[in-house]
Amino acid sequence: MSWRSYFLIFILLGSFACTGGSQNTAQQSTENQMYVPVKGDDLTKVEKSDEEWKAELSNQEYNILRQAGTEYAFSGDLWNNKQEGLYTCRGCGLPLFDSATKFKSGTGWPSFYQPVKKAYVGEIVDRSHGMVRTEVVCARCEGHLGHVFPDGPQPTGLRYCINSASLDFIPKSEVKE
Ligand SMILES: [Zn+2]
Repeated sequence: MSWRSYFLIFILLGSFACTGGSQNTAQQSTENQMYVPVKGDDLTKVEKSDEEWKAELSNQEYNILRQAGTEYAFSGDLWNNKQEGLYTCRGCGLPLFDSATKFKSGTGWPSFYQPVKKAYVGEIVDRSHGMVRTEVVCARCEGHLGHVFPDGPQPTGLRYCINSASLDFIPKSEVKE
C-alpha cells in the first residue's frame, strides 16, 4: 500500500474512535451504567518479579495478592464500604467490580455478584485446605483476589468473595473515562 492508503486508514480509525468516545459519555449519565472504560483496562499481562511486587505492595497486600493469602473477616477497609464507585485491582489498577453489584453477604469480605467484565477475572480450581473452591485472580497481573461461590444473589447466583487488600476503591465522582 502507498503512504496515501495508510493515511486514509488512519483518518478512518480516528473517526471510529471519536464515535466510541461520544457513546461512552452518553452511557455515563445512565443509571446502573456508571462504569465507563478507564485508562489501563487492556489485558496485556503485567509481569513483575517478586522483588518488584514486594517493593510496591505492603506486606499484607503481597501476602494476599502474590501468595494467595486471606485477610481476617471484618478486618479489611472495604467490606462495609457503601459508597458508589469502582473497585480496581490493587496490583495493576484493572477495573474489577462495580459498586452496583456489591451486596451485603455477612461474611466480612467485600462481596459482589459479578465482575465489571467476565474476562477481567480469571478462575482457577483451588484444592487447598481440604476443599475444592474456585479461586479468582486478576486477569492482567494474576493477583489473587479471593474465591467465587455458587450461593450469591440473583441475577447471577454467584458470590465473589474478595479481599479488601486486593482492591482499591475509586469513588464514582473520580471514575474517569
Ligand atoms: Zn491486577
